[in-house]
Amino acid sequence: MNTLLPESDLSNDLEPGLYIVATPIGNLGDITVRALGVLRGVSLIACEDTRVTGKLLKAHGISTRMQRYDDHASEETRARLLERARNVPVALVSDAGTPLVSDPGYRLVREARESGVTVTSIPGACAAVVGLTLSGLPNDRFLFAGFLPVKEKARADVLEELCAVDATLVFYETGPRLERSLRAIAQVWPQREVAVARELTKLHEECRSGIAADLADHYSEHPPKGEIVLLVGPPVESASKADPDALLREALSEMSASKAAKEVAKATGLDRQTLYARAVELRAE
Ligand code: SAM
Repeated sequence: MNTLLPESDLSNDLEPGLYIVATPIGNLGDITVRALGVLRGVSLIACEDTRVTGKLLKAHGISTRMQRYDDHASEETRARLLERARNVPVALVSDAGTPLVSDPGYRLVREARESGVTVTSIPGACAAVVGLTLSGLPNDRFLFAGFLPVKEKARADVLEELCAVDATLVFYETGPRLERSLRAIAQVWPQREVAVARELTKLHEECRSGIAADLADHYSEHPPKGEIVLLVGPPVESASKADPDALLREALSEMSASKAAKEVAKATGLDRQTLYARAVELRAE
């Protein structure tokens, strides 16, 4: 095992194979000694954008050859890379963070494994994990859900699907879309704690918490710059423990099914449509 070897030793004698190497998500210093050794020692670095990776290599005095690669690359390109990795070490990096996490590499790794090429992962920065650790939200269970869809209906469908998940939810987000996503979250989970983690590891790093509606108001007044991780805390304990039928029955004694569903959804963070369907059933009993 390569434990505690200095970088200079790691760059020598790398075995053939595909090395998945995590790179910084902002601060150029966030790269491991092992990652630098591998990037120095491989025969070729497959990367999303040679200009982006070139800057990182230059900052660390590494002159390894680069080749552009993403999952839209032709079968032939992939086959050539894998043939190379079978004989000599080849690294895969993305523009930032951990390759394959909302980044290219899935097909390459899958085919490497299927064809018996050794795959090694060199861990490092990942914005989802940095955001999670910074947010103060429960982290014993979390679900990484990538980017929310841009279209309203598709976004609402994804949020609906995630209603049943009893865990902190982690999304990747962009500045221009943040407010819309927060408004959509406010509709579905008005009570859940949300965190917006922005510009992680960079000069203007920020993590702001609150309920989605308040955060949406804030960011409509202060349009956010830079890269964002959006996190939604798990359903509030009272919601997961609450008996929705009991709450609905009580509400139905005073109001319509639709109003009852709205009130119980607000109080518990549970999905309004589902509560409405249940309210109609309870009323018919
Ligand atoms: N593979 C990367 C990783 O390991 O985090 C993620 C790549 S994905 C294409 C880019 C998204 O990651 C951004 O839109 C943003 O949501 C998130 N991200 C990347 N760097 C970030 C940073 N420094 N601060 C906040 N979010 C970041």
